[in-house]
Amino acid sequence: MPQPPYESRLPYNSARIHAAAIYCSDGRMGEHFDDFLEQGLKLPRYDRVTLPGGPACLAGHAQAHLEEQGVMDELKFLVEVHGLKRVVLIAHQSCAFYASRLELKEPRLELVQKADLVRAAAFTNRVTGLNNIEAYFARNLDGKVQFERVEA
Ligand SMILES: [Zn+2]
Repeated sequence: MPQPPYESRLPYNSARIHAAAIYCSDGRMGEHFDDFLEQGLKLPRYDRVTLPGGPACLAGHAQAHLEEQGVMDELKFLVEVHGLKRVVLIAHQSCAFYASRLELKEPRLELVQKADLVRAAAFTNRVTGLNNIEAYFARNLDGKVQFERVEA
């Protein structure tokens, strides 16, 4: 006997919010990113673009060149097909992409992440033509996560 299909208790709403967020695929932070975007920024049903390091791939690092191509294509698709108007970029503290792929250590790691958010915002603006781009840094504090705005 095959198992019956699982049915989600969450209702489906087909209306798009015309916003996307780019953040790291780190599953320990997934629900915090959702909470911040849905409750903090009031963006329910936002489009998700997640990959290790998140917006790091849009900051011009040679180590992320393939990811840059992919995410650039995805963003253009979301603008054309989903009518994207707003993009939220989020970096998070102690991101393994920065520590491992870019071989950075604190305190320099956080400085590079914040500079990358500024670069990624400019790049996203250039690629998509959108002006409504904002950036945040997610910080872990005593078992909680805070989202700080980064001027980009
Ligand atoms: Zn990460």
